[in-house]
Amino acid sequence: TDIEELLLSRIRDVADYPEPGVMFKDITPLLADPPAFTALTDALADIALRTGATKIVGLEARGFILGAPVAVRAGLGFIPVRKAGKLPGATLSQAYDLEYGSAEIEVHAEDLLPGDRVLVVDDVLATGGTAEASLQLIRRAGAEVAGVAVLMELAFLSGRARLEAPLAGAPLEAL
Ligand code: 5GP
Repeated sequence: TDIEELLLSRIRDVADYPEPGVMFKDITPLLADPPAFTALTDALADIALRTGATKIVGLEARGFILGAPVAVRAGLGFIPVRKAGKLPGATLSQAYDLEYGSAEIEVHAEDLLPGDRVLVVDDVLATGGTAEASLQLIRRAGAEVAGVAVLMELAFLSGRARLEAPLAGAPLEAL
């Protein structure tokens, strides 16, 4: 579609970043282009409304940049899921495996409650590890998963398959 072409045209491929052999998808040209950033925000806000989400979770750091305007546009609250150690209040934490080592993400416990329906927003779905951990946090908080919405899915890394069980039927939408 026209929107897909517009978005794709504003994503820059950077070879060998952050390490040799990786082709990094850089979204900063898209963020700097008002028509593209607006189209992206509108498309993600449509998904939020369609899935019946009541809250938007954004994954640090680019999920903050995308998720915050989506929350405003959709009229929903924005909840940051941060790397461990950054949130001042009582948190729920979730560890997950990386290619080498592990990572941990956190959310303020009071921000996700039974009765909430949560849409996770991020820029890129790669292996799905980060998104999977966020879904585990949402369920552990007793909230419902409305889905996961990303700008771009790197299909060759099979994140969609990894999210199948944690999504439990909720949609994964990649623009
Ligand atoms: P995953 O946990 O799915 O392997 O990695 C996804 C996370 O890493 C996302 O938060 C995403 O922002 C970041 N990420 C991984 N690869 C890329 C990439 O090529 N471009 C961008 N912009 N982010 C990436």
